[in-house]
Amino acid sequence: VTSKTAELTGTIVAAHGRHYLADVGDAQSPEFLQCVTRGKKTNVAVGDIVHLKRTSNDQAVIEKIAERSTLLYRSDQYKSKLLAANITRLFIVVATEPSFADDLVSRALVACEAAGVEAHLILNKVDVEALLPRARERAGLYAGLGYPLHEVSAKADPEGTVATLTPLLLGQSSIFIGQSGMGKSSMINLLVPDADIAVREISEALDTGKHTTTFTRLYKLPGGGQIIDSPGFQEFGLYHLTEGMLERAFIEFKPFLGGCKYYNCRHLAEPQCAILGAVEEGKIAKIRHELYAQLLHESAQTLY
Ligand code: GDP
Ligand code: ZN
Repeated sequence: VTSKTAELTGTIVAAHGRHYLADVGDAQSPEFLQCVTRGKKTNVAVGDIVHLKRTSNDQAVIEKIAERSTLLYRSDQYKSKLLAANITRLFIVVATEPSFADDLVSRALVACEAAGVEAHLILNKVDVEALLPRARERAGLYAGLGYPLHEVSAKADPEGTVATLTPLLLGQSSIFIGQSGMGKSSMINLLVPDADIAVREISEALDTGKHTTTFTRLYKLPGGGQIIDSPGFQEFGLYHLTEGMLERAFIEFKPFLGGCKYYNCRHLAEPQCAILGAVEEGKIAKIRHELYAQLLHESAQTLY
């Protein structure tokens, strides 16, 4: 087949500052190209599908970013505000130990609701039996909201972990996030064959000077689908959310929205607020409403 307009298409598999790496191969045999953008634009994210123009054997220029199905933002403290593009499913890894932070879990859930990404929780280290009831109860808050919760033991039961998680990854573009120590790396290493080799390859191809492993990277799965691993716990950028988006991102608020006395109720201290009423009756968890108020406060601060 001859093609005069052989435009090269690839997936961004790693980003480190303004260094990008695109994979133009297939799942069986990756082919990495170092990429730069035209001009000073740095609006490229891991997971982006890009149209490229090859400039040398292993280098290319990003001509165009394909339209994204979803986009997750990081908080302002990072150089790049984009976390990942075209994600379909996000997994929040929590564990029996160390203890996980509820506000980080909820911030991730809010980011997912706003972006249209399906969110799941994974409770790892269920072999630590003494701490299991408490962890189950805490994670149960989110399961009760409708977010699927999967229990695994990456270290104590690797086969069971792979059996539980593999079907959830097929055909999906997944991202794993978690606070340090929850077992995210153990999990990725089980799910991605030769993850350590892949990281080294990507790191070398990315050629950042130092062979760092602290960059977001994408792995293609042999069975179809891809996993993005992001170092550290990603603080999501939620400042772009309007008040309307924010109240809808707390999914348990939905049945009560519209029930407030004032049509422009912000659900903070207004009289006859249906949301506050539901909090009072225990139908909405207090910690979720507190985070809602906090996010409202944070977004207002960036506006004025
Ligand atoms: P990360 O910081 O989230 O990437 O966590 P790691 O994968 O590095 O794991 C943190 C620690 O938890 C390591 O000491 C692991 O051996 C341990 N760990 C991981 N999974 C399990 C598990 O299922 N059960 C127990 N008991 N420990 C685990
Ligand atoms: Zn209200």
